[in-house]
Amino acid sequence: MAELQPDVEVTIFEKSNQLLSKVKVSGGGRCNVTHACFDPRELVKFYPRGSRELMGPFFNRFAPGDTISWFDDRGVTLKTEEDGRMFPITDSSQTIITTFLNEAHEKNIIVRTQSGVIALETHP
Ligand SMILES: Cc1cc2nc3c(=O)[nH]c(=O)nc-3n(C[C@H](O)[C@H](O)[C@H](O)COP(=O)(O)OP(=O)(O)OC[C@H]3O[C@@H](n4cnc5c(N)ncnc54)[C@H](O)[C@@H]3O)c2cc1C
Repeated sequence: MAELQPDVEVTIFEKSNQLLSKVKVSGGGRCNVTHACFDPRELVKFYPRGSRELMGPFFNRFAPGDTISWFDDRGVTLKTEEDGRMFPITDSSQTIITTFLNEAHEKNIIVRTQSGVIALETHP
């Protein structure tokens, strides 16, 4: 949203005191960012449930190749392991966290920690 519509104010509300804590422990602390499978029809076979839902909104619009480019554009190189899993060459999930936080900062995204969302209302 912040990329597509830079004039829109974007705020992340996080109820805990830090963002991306699950990413920190992901992939055993290395963060398995994506998979070296570049055909969405093949990639979707790795997901036992929700394959149809993943195809349209996700893999046809933002596939592993896009993920690799997105990180590469921000100075993060991903490496491929023998089984196809892709990790940052630093082998540290902190690299991914730092990249996301830098991106949020650069795009002027407001981050509010210890701010749980209770309800959402839309105004015409
Ligand atoms: C041990 C482990 C290892 C994993 N390894 C990998 C991996 O290597 N690669 C991979 O792709 N995936 C991995 N996953 C899965 C991945 O972590 C999840 O798919 C991903 O974190 C889901 O992202 P999310 O934003 O939907 O939810 P979360 O990461 O859980 O984030 C939700 C956030 O919302 C906050 N929140 C909740 N309620 C509110 C509220 N009312 N108001 C404000 N904030 C709120 C929570 O505090 C949390 O910070 C792993 C998961 C685990 C548990």
